[in-house]
Amino acid sequence: MHNKSVAELSRELESGKISSVELTQQFLDRLKQEDGKYNSFITVCEDQALADAKAADDMRAAGRATPWTGVPFAHKDIFCTNGTRTTCGSKMLENFVPPYDATVAEKFKAAGAVCLGKTNMDEFAMGSSNESSHFGAVTNPWGLSSGQKRVPGGSSGGSAAAVAARLVPAATGTDTGGSIRQPAALCGISGLKPTYGRVSRYGMIAFASSLDQGGTMARTAEDNALMLNVMAGFDPRDSTSIDREVPDYTATLDQSLKGMKIGLPREYFSDQLSPAMAEQVRNAISEYEKQGAIVQEVSLPNAKLAIAAYYVIAPAEASANLSRFDGVRYGYRCEDPKDLMDMYTRTRAEGFGNEVKRRILVGTYALSHGYYDAYYLQAQKVRRLIQQDFINAFKDVDVLMSPVTPSPAFAQGEKTTDPVAMYLEDVFTIAINLAGLPAMSVPAGFVDGLPVGLQIIGDHFSEARLLNAAHQFQQATDWHLREPK
Ligand code: GLN
Repeated sequence: MHNKSVAELSRELESGKISSVELTQQFLDRLKQEDGKYNSFITVCEDQALADAKAADDMRAAGRATPWTGVPFAHKDIFCTNGTRTTCGSKMLENFVPPYDATVAEKFKAAGAVCLGKTNMDEFAMGSSNESSHFGAVTNPWGLSSGQKRVPGGSSGGSAAAVAARLVPAATGTDTGGSIRQPAALCGISGLKPTYGRVSRYGMIAFASSLDQGGTMARTAEDNALMLNVMAGFDPRDSTSIDREVPDYTATLDQSLKGMKIGLPREYFSDQLSPAMAEQVRNAISEYEKQGAIVQEVSLPNAKLAIAAYYVIAPAEASANLSRFDGVRYGYRCEDPKDLMDMYTRTRAEGFGNEVKRRILVGTYALSHGYYDAYYLQAQKVRRLIQQDFINAFKDVDVLMSPVTPSPAFAQGEKTTDPVAMYLEDVFTIAINLAGLPAMSVPAGFVDGLPVGLQIIGDHFSEARLLNAAHQFQQATDWHLREPK
């Protein structure tokens, strides 16, 4: 069962061959047996999952089943779950049990899906390797047989590793600068970052609010479509949620790609990309040509400024968002504070890890009087120019394709002492967040036995087209079905 997709598991449940209670128990057993190798879960909700599975079986018996009813999955530990600890990978929230559900969590519950637990992540979603988690690093299931432990990417590294290791068929993620696409690429699974505003941010712990977007992670494009069907939609509780009709994302998966215009951004096939990676990505693109797509080169002249702009804007927003963790209302509080100031400072000094502190310092600096114009305002102007590059590109083409990462999964510890090297992991993903666009990562080959991702970028609200393009590719290739040894 653990090798089956969400769509397949849904059919098994519908046919009555297996009950959700049996299926959930199988997945829980496997999770307990295997996750010692990966550390991909922070919390496993065994009792709750079995109770939900029982309820799902009843829901199905009553004829009220959705495609998700009784299917196990997991949430990134950034989504608040009522009654279940939600840590965001931080000591600050180690014992935080939310009294409410994120909208995304509520929607999966309403569909009857069975949440097995909460997946590991970089602290407050800041990172590209899942090494900044207070709950320990996550190990990529790929490359383990060579004896070298590799990172799964981040910040949704627990979700990516769990799906790749077949501990769950699907998991939620969030993507502020690449945190769905980069781990999906490094773990050989499929992930979609939707258009900003497509999926509610209510109850999703905030990192950089103008960039954060929840999304989908699973092995197949079809399963990503099934996830987005549940997650997408207007939410009056999120002021940046967009009130726009949600299509059935599975309905257009089978459309032909004949005549689809693909743009290859010149700047994304630069010397930052190793020749071996470039070759895999180009091979994938030639599969699209075989299916009748037309490829042309395009230019994103300001894309090179994306990392610099992001590392002003994201930390600035983070410094404001994270000011709420002050030891007063919830979360960690230091022992025996001498006075109020001592409590604030020691709580934050002890509760946050180094990467989070670095972001708060950078962000506070960029927003300070006298520096605001030079950094934050300037970065916002650059952001606008980057958006304009994409607007121009989409006048000529339907989608853009590029690599997701400059290289495959790197070794644990390789980049932890060099933050800039870590930030450069997102050189092909960050501009998309600054522009608010949807993009997917799809398994597209291997380099040195490690998975390589193809990035498919679309105009705002073109998720159905991205999923269609990914699905057609997966009908012709089997990269997404490869299993780590
Ligand atoms: N790696 C990027 C960062 O560290 C992106 C993280 C994310 O998308 N949440 O900020």
